[in-house]
Amino acid sequence: MTPDIKPLVAGNWKMNGVQSCLAELNAMSTGFTKELQSKIDLLICLPATLISLGTAETKQSALKIGAQDCHFNVNGAHTGDISTQMITDIGATSVLVGHSERRTDHGESDAIVLAKANAAIASGLMTVVCIGETEVERKSGDTLKVLETQLAGSLPDEYSSNIVIAYEPVWAIGTGLIPKVSDVEEAHGFIRSEMIKRYGENGKTIRLLYGGSVKPANAKELMSIENVDGALVGGASLKAADFLGICEAYL
Ligand code: PEP
Repeated sequence: MTPDIKPLVAGNWKMNGVQSCLAELNAMSTGFTKELQSKIDLLICLPATLISLGTAETKQSALKIGAQDCHFNVNGAHTGDISTQMITDIGATSVLVGHSERRTDHGESDAIVLAKANAAIASGLMTVVCIGETEVERKSGDTLKVLETQLAGSLPDEYSSNIVIAYEPVWAIGTGLIPKVSDVEEAHGFIRSEMIKRYGENGKTIRLLYGGSVKPANAKELMSIENVDGALVGGASLKAADFLGICEAYL
């Protein structure tokens, strides 16, 4: 945790969920009590097909809805893509950019992630920029070098209060593996110092999320690490009981 930063717990449903799954979203919204609201912000990044329904479902709720990706152009001949304008138009307030699955499956470079981040920030979306090393990079001792390169290449030049960073070791995503506390502490401390180098005092206010196999059982330990200001959660964000169980780490 970082004093004076309100943590964010963000869920990423990835390519999971059909309309019937909105019952889980509803349960999350109901379980996001006033007490939890006073401690954390809550976000679920839905598949594009559910965003409109999800924003309608959570209209009266403090739970926010986000998208999982965006194009960097406002409109045009980009079959299958969605723009930040389309995302805001249907009521989402946030977007993930540079998730490792996008970087790997769609060959997204830091330059593409940067273009997307710029577009998202220009649209007023809270923009969660994802970074993280692969298993090979960690084993060869290159973690901090990789993070430094990704941060340098994927982040906007100008500070915005809408920038959020998610540190997600690729080898920890969906595997049940998590780094040692000291490794998370080192990575987040490094990211914090890079943010301060880049944005000055404002860098102290940027939320740094940890992502990779966060579950109710490990959330308390992970979320209490210095400079960990919340979580980006994949698998355990699909069920309200699990997702709220993670949030309870903050009670
Ligand atoms: C993710 O998709 O960003 C993620 C961290 O997944 P999981 O929690 O399933 O590891």
